[in-house]
Formats: sequence, C-alpha cells, structure tokens
Amino acid sequence: MGMATLLCSRCEEEKQGLESAPMGGANGQLVLENVCVDCWAAWRETSSQLINHHQLVLGNPEHRWQLRTAMKEFLGLDDDDDDEGGSAAG
Ligand SMILES: [Zn+2]
Repeated sequence: MGMATLLCSRCEEEKQGLESAPMGGANGQLVLENVCVDCWAAWRETSSQLINHHQLVLGNPEHRWQLRTAMKEFLGLDDDDDDEGGSAAG
C-alpha cells in the first residue's frame, strides 16, 4: 500500500502528511490531518525564527498561545476550537 496523502491546507496540494501528531491535543490532530510534511518543515523553520526574534519562552502559556496562533495563520488552519488562551479581543 502507498503512503497516506492529504490535501494540505497551506500549499493546497495532495501530499504526504506527517507520521504522527507533532503536538498533543486538537491542534496536533489538526496539523496531522491537514498539513503536509513540507509545509510543516517550513513552519518549523519559521517558528524558530519567531522564537528568536520575539524571545518567546515555550514554558510561558501566553507565548505558547502566541506561537500557536501564528502557526495556524501560517498553515491556514481554522481556529474553531481554542481550548486555551481565553478571549482573543482585537
Ligand atoms: Zn503543504
């Protein structure tokens, strides 16, 4: 059998997805089901730049939320389930 492919939400091509969720919870599942390996690699690179640029601390929930929001924007994922972060006014 061939490898599983998905329609990527970022590049909009049918490509190979990740082998497992890159993080826990709904977001990990969202990435697993909607993002191809190439776009995930692109995000990994961008995220480390963001972390360096904004001096984000992953132990800080607010920073994690910031990064997660940026990730969803970058990858074109819908944000219909925010289990964390509360109200996002503005
Ligand atoms: Zn892609």
